[in-house]
Amino acid sequence: MKTLILTLTMLATALGFASEQIKTVHTPSNTTSAAGIKIIPINHGSLILEYEGKALYIDPVGEAELYKMHPDPTLIFITDIHGDHFSLKTLESLNLEFTGIIAPKTVFDQLPENFQKKTTVMHNGDSQSFRLFNMTIEAVPMYNLREEALNFHPKGRGNGYVISLAGERIYISGDTEDIPEMRNLENIDTAFVCMNLPYTMTVESAASAVLDFKPKTVIPYHYRGKDGLSDVEKFKNLVIEKNNAINVTLLKWYEQ
Ligand code: ZN
Repeated sequence: MKTLILTLTMLATALGFASEQIKTVHTPSNTTSAAGIKIIPINHGSLILEYEGKALYIDPVGEAELYKMHPDPTLIFITDIHGDHFSLKTLESLNLEFTGIIAPKTVFDQLPENFQKKTTVMHNGDSQSFRLFNMTIEAVPMYNLREEALNFHPKGRGNGYVISLAGERIYISGDTEDIPEMRNLENIDTAFVCMNLPYTMTVESAASAVLDFKPKTVIPYHYRGKDGLSDVEKFKNLVIEKNNAINVTLLKWYEQ
């Protein structure tokens, strides 16, 4: 009997350990915000926000296959001209019959006329209201600070976005470093923050900025750099050890 109890205890411990292991290595492929906005990572800097059957696409690039199980976009946000954010080929592969596009001027200039007609150009600092869901969209700066990286993203070219939807404020960083405009953001519910070298910033800089603007939830995205994926677990620890009220959500952005 004693042996049996011991064996059962060992088994339970082993199972407990196993499920704990599974919990820590399992990265969910999507999540839902408090207001019911479904957050679907597609890859790297591309994602979909789904709300009441409508889909907002952020920087859709890559094969049409990646998007075909999702609703056609109602609105597309493009942050910058680089291929991991803007692909005419991808846009042409989507059904954009009833779609609006929001883009910086540099992207607008590269669009064919039929897409330009659907596009609202936004500059850093612009704010627009939309009838759809009474949404407000703010275009915010995104740029590099490090001397050696200044040419990647000059200030004023691309847009980060703050999307106010369903009572939540969602921040899409675009490709940026820990700029003062990010540190000074207020009342952000969900923040998508990039962290990859040499193009954007280190996990340390990203964590430091996030600790300043204190979003309710932060989701690391755009974290594949020249030398592989950034250490997002480290980012998570840096944030929660200083402020465990910030929820750091890791999602599956890359095939591993
Ligand atoms: Zn990028």
